[in-house]
Amino acid sequence: MSRIVYVNGEYLPEEEAKVSVFDRGFLFADGVYEVTSVLGGKLIDFDGHFRRLQRSLSELDMQAPEVLGELLEIHRELVARNEIGDGLIYLQITRGAPGDRDFAFPPEGTAPTVVLFTQSKPGLADSPQARAGVRVISIEDIRWGRRDIKTVQLLYPSMGKMMAKKAGADDAWMIEDGFVTEGTSNNAYIVRGGRIITRNLGTEILHGITRAAVLRFAREAQMTVEERPFTIDEAREADEAFFTSASAFVMPVVEIDGAVLGNGTPGPVATRLREIYLDESRKTAV
Ligand code: PMP
Repeated sequence: MSRIVYVNGEYLPEEEAKVSVFDRGFLFADGVYEVTSVLGGKLIDFDGHFRRLQRSLSELDMQAPEVLGELLEIHRELVARNEIGDGLIYLQITRGAPGDRDFAFPPEGTAPTVVLFTQSKPGLADSPQARAGVRVISIEDIRWGRRDIKTVQLLYPSMGKMMAKKAGADDAWMIEDGFVTEGTSNNAYIVRGGRIITRNLGTEILHGITRAAVLRFAREAQMTVEERPFTIDEAREADEAFFTSASAFVMPVVEIDGAVLGNGTPGPVATRLREIYLDESRKTAV
């Protein structure tokens, strides 16, 4: 059965969904996106993703689509039409298709392109990777300077994942001036002496929606959180490490650049935070 996707106001079978060759998302990576997870047919942290989407649009002076206020309804409609139990909803908005290729932004009033589709992932929260922990390598962070905007410029993160794969690892953490910025598609954390350390917010990293929730839950559970840059050397010597994202939730890291952390299995802080995050966010899912 083919998926039903949403394109510019229409729900269509995926084979019939089309976007113009002049779309600025295609030609200039002039677009923003969000990924919201679905557990038990409900959306996790929709409000957070919606607010970040609005911020990304405004930071890029991109016109908000007319359907902005209907996005929750569209997400829910796609979940229903595609019978998603566990999975993801991908949303992308671009600066539209002005009808020619021109670096200058298109004339005011050019309609943004809006695309949403589902990815079914049965058992998303019960991943074998989370039970075993994952291995990461470090790579240089050569991305542009506005990583706080969630744009579709994902070539380097894609290359980073391929570098990790080639090295026999699962993912990569990026390093700038010796300090870890973030993972290719996640926020990075280490644990030392029971303290959770993660890079402070700025333009150097994406302001993860999962990060915000996890740090709130950690503080509510009386855990100590330090928001500051940490070096890759400090990470390799940490007691534990983990990363967060909407699709991986809280993912324990058991090896960094070949250095085994602790006893090589998911640590107690990461394990507990994963449980709390999943429990709490299911409660507030919409
Ligand atoms: N950093 C980067 C570079 C990402 O691509 C992502 C996932 N989109 C994250 C962090 C995590 O953000 P979130 O928790 O909102 O999924």
